[in-house]
Amino acid sequence: MEVSCPVAVADDWVVRTAGEVRAEAERRHPGEVPTCASGISPSGPVHLGNLRELMVPHLVADEVRKQGVPGRHILSWDDYDRLRRVPAGFPESFAEHIGRPLTAVPDPCGRHENWAEHFKEPLRESLARLAVLVTEISQTQMYTSGAYTGQIITAMRRRADISAVLARYQTKRNADPDDDDPRNAGTRAYYPFKPYCAVCGRDDTTVTGFDDETTQITYTCACGAQVGPVPIAEVAGKLAWKVDWPMRWAYEHVTFEPAGVDHASPGSSFTVGGELVTEIFGGEMPLHFGYSFVGTTGGSSKMSGSAGGAPTPADALEIFEAPLVRWLYARRRPEQSITLAFDQEVGRVYDEWDALSRKVADGTADAPARAVYGRAAGTAEGPLPVTPRPLPFRTLASVTDITAGDQAQILRILQDLTNQDPVASLDEVRPRLDCAQAWVAGYMDPADRTQVRREPDTDRLAGLSEEERCALKLLTERMGDDWSLNGLTTLLYGIPKLLRDLPLDAPRTPELKAAQRTWFILLYQLLIGKDTGPRLPTLLLALGQDQIRHLLTPG
Ligand SMILES: [Zn+2]
Ligand SMILES: [Zn+2]
Repeated sequence: MEVSCPVAVADDWVVRTAGEVRAEAERRHPGEVPTCASGISPSGPVHLGNLRELMVPHLVADEVRKQGVPGRHILSWDDYDRLRRVPAGFPESFAEHIGRPLTAVPDPCGRHENWAEHFKEPLRESLARLAVLVTEISQTQMYTSGAYTGQIITAMRRRADISAVLARYQTKRNADPDDDDPRNAGTRAYYPFKPYCAVCGRDDTTVTGFDDETTQITYTCACGAQVGPVPIAEVAGKLAWKVDWPMRWAYEHVTFEPAGVDHASPGSSFTVGGELVTEIFGGEMPLHFGYSFVGTTGGSSKMSGSAGGAPTPADALEIFEAPLVRWLYARRRPEQSITLAFDQEVGRVYDEWDALSRKVADGTADAPARAVYGRAAGTAEGPLPVTPRPLPFRTLASVTDITAGDQAQILRILQDLTNQDPVASLDEVRPRLDCAQAWVAGYMDPADRTQVRREPDTDRLAGLSEEERCALKLLTERMGDDWSLNGLTTLLYGIPKLLRDLPLDAPRTPELKAAQRTWFILLYQLLIGKDTGPRLPTLLLALGQDQIRHLLTPG
């Protein structure tokens, strides 16, 4: 069977896919709610890349619901998988638990029920903030409750058929690390079920026999245990990954489940699963396509996922408002890769988002941009919370930087910056202000930080030229006349004109531009000891008139 891409991803892929999901669900299981599926392994920190596994089905399920039809999005936690390795940053003592189900490994922090819960909780919180509505299914719960016993017995009885399918693909490909026991595939000894040892709890087990009639199984374990014959219904264990996945497609009636491009390529788990779901489990392959990777730029030691080297959704939500995170995923087609910036690009991303928001608000956005905006700003359940006064992120970051986070000073400066309609309380600029503060604290390049001088630069002030002296005098004398962003902007650009007996609205000649540049460098040097810095009007508002006079008045 050739794996094609049954979901065309042209045009508006979300609307198109949602339509196909509805039609396909109705054809397969009339009257049932369409099911979109995601699978996440809580074996370590869940990264931003993994979030795409959730966002792609979410956008489709949400579109189904926006069309007024119920749509289900299941999040299948692969928490009955074995612990394969101890992730970087966690004590090596956990190596003892390698081979045990993730829900049987102790919690690394002591606040959670087990290892799996430790990594589920932060993702669960992020999904709630992102308004990604999921129905959680714990594979531990499913397996240990006996929900899959019938499917397991079927797979064991049909092991020769399964083995033949696996073998067919293995001859075409090298051994796949996803295969739980590739050496056994294609041989008579192949069993698609792997017990967790009754003695040591690990899956270092080898099935030595299975009676198709009585469904009794025997196995041995590396720990020395020899178990059985016992009814397989009483044995802990799970199906091999490539068998488990199609079993669940059939069990949950999954209509749509995308996967990372590595899983969706020909000959991968999808290809094998597509055969097994029909041949063994009597189901149909979900509609699917591969989605591309998510990369990041600009790291920080503050990232919770830094031990694993990659940021998590919680890290992204610290510096991006939730609708922005949704937008960063929703604006790309599945086959396009995504790069999330944590460096100074963050300001540009906010500016783009604000520009889009304004275009949508004033009706000038085109249809595709409106659709993407709608998916970012809200779900079928309603809009996401927004910052009531979305001041530019760069301004908030700059003010946070200049004030070293002092809340009273921030409010005073923001009121000066918005003097036409002053901000009444910092709550009006939250959560964006919190994002800016988190960004300054964790991601701003230390070289870009602003350190306001405590004492005047007396050497520089003593060596001022006559023109420089006059310019500083004009500034300190006149800045109080219109103490606002606009007033200060006009004055700062105007001082080199006044010194040349030009009116304030004189056009900027090359000579004037050069004079303005030199003048601004002088101010930066005297105020913060560098040649560049935050926008000068903002900086002046932040410093206040007393401190400006203190730093700019020659002794
Ligand atoms: Zn924990
Ligand atoms: Zn054992």
